[in-house]
Amino acid sequence: MPAHTSTNSDLLTRLESFQSRLSPYPPIETFSELDFSHEALSEYLNFSQTPAINIHIPFCKELCNFCNCNIVVTRQYGLAAQYAEFLRQEIQWYRDALKAQNKEFPAPNQIYVGGGTPTFLLADDLRRVMLAVEGAFGTNKSIDRDYCIEVDPRNVDHEIISLLKSLGFNRLHFGFEDFSNDVQQAINRKYSFERIKQSASIARAQGIHSISIDMTYGLPEQSVITFSNSLKQILRLAPSRIVLQRYSHNPKIFKSQQSIDSDTLPSEKAIQDMQEFAVSHLKEIGFHAVGSNCFVHNEDPLSDATKKGRIHWTYRGYSKEPSDTVLGFGLSAVSTTPSAIWQNQLSLRNYTKQVRTQGHAVYRGTALSLDDQIRRDITLKLLCNEEIDKEAFQARWKQNFDTYFANELETIQETFGKQLLINNDHELKLTTSGQWVANQLATVFQGHWQTHNT
Ligand code: SF4
Repeated sequence: MPAHTSTNSDLLTRLESFQSRLSPYPPIETFSELDFSHEALSEYLNFSQTPAINIHIPFCKELCNFCNCNIVVTRQYGLAAQYAEFLRQEIQWYRDALKAQNKEFPAPNQIYVGGGTPTFLLADDLRRVMLAVEGAFGTNKSIDRDYCIEVDPRNVDHEIISLLKSLGFNRLHFGFEDFSNDVQQAINRKYSFERIKQSASIARAQGIHSISIDMTYGLPEQSVITFSNSLKQILRLAPSRIVLQRYSHNPKIFKSQQSIDSDTLPSEKAIQDMQEFAVSHLKEIGFHAVGSNCFVHNEDPLSDATKKGRIHWTYRGYSKEPSDTVLGFGLSAVSTTPSAIWQNQLSLRNYTKQVRTQGHAVYRGTALSLDDQIRRDITLKLLCNEEIDKEAFQARWKQNFDTYFANELETIQETFGKQLLINNDHELKLTTSGQWVANQLATVFQGHWQTHNT
């Protein structure tokens, strides 16, 4: 992957106005009421690949100022215990729906439990939730499975790791920012390198070897020096995967960010320098890029999957195998299938109320038109394979690619020139500069781009 110096500053400036992360397609703003019954679910679950499961545990004991997740900050465990019970009921509703329709659901190869702080749940509650998943869908015991859980290094100990191992998790995911005191104070999230190192050692000693890290940059009080020192330090843990996330300051939407003084945010130049440092340093020590913000080492299964063209992308990031169906459970969780997408209730109150009365918590969604399915396919191909084979497109969708996307191709040509894409009769392929902005380019094909950028 190139350093950012290979794109010109005008282009970078223009790209800044685009959304930096993709949301599921079609975008959530287009969702409306969705028919959701056992029968409807059966129709939506027309998967041809092994489905994946996502579970959202939204609780945190303290609010980090930079947080942009849908979370519940509390120290009352009762709320979480109750939530775990509703999660079980929600999962069981799906199990009953599948049974009622005689639908076989293959044991998931991929489970992701994110937060919030999943380990906010006490052992018994977490165990009960995972047993509900096993009871409803089965679980996969093979070493190829990717069962990942986000952990907060501030509360990991031998007991918790042993529990996670017994529940089948084989990858731990740490969210990490910067070890500078000033940054940690500004974002109200404090931990030491020693604490993370200890958590990683405990995990590896108990046989959970795979560690992935989300590293956020562009934070208040952060400088290129604090960022680069922190990245070098975190690499001493030998993670196999690093996802770089740029902090997005949006205090009007995320109230917690109102306590961040925007004058303390690093300049655009400093942010680009952080990106350049990260990319060149990670490359130097043997990581290679997957998409525009994920870096993997050779031993990470994503590395092999990338070479075989098998990786897949969901809003949880890249995964090592394609899955056309992801079932999301819990507050604000999103589910996608080949023919529909839906999201659960956003507030704890509404989530629990709806599960109590209806069994599921689906709040809004949409059935996918053929056009939606085509656009989603193109988006995923650009994000995962960085190219589109026009003959394969024609064979799958019975459409000529250049004709179908004539407007989008013109928009890309006018906006970006020829720097980012190679477009010939056989393929549409991202150049090395284009790989950096795969997210933004994919957005052009999502049909709502013009609405968002005019
Ligand atoms: S950043 Fe993570 S730990 Fe902090 S409040 Fe948000 S979800 Fe919780």
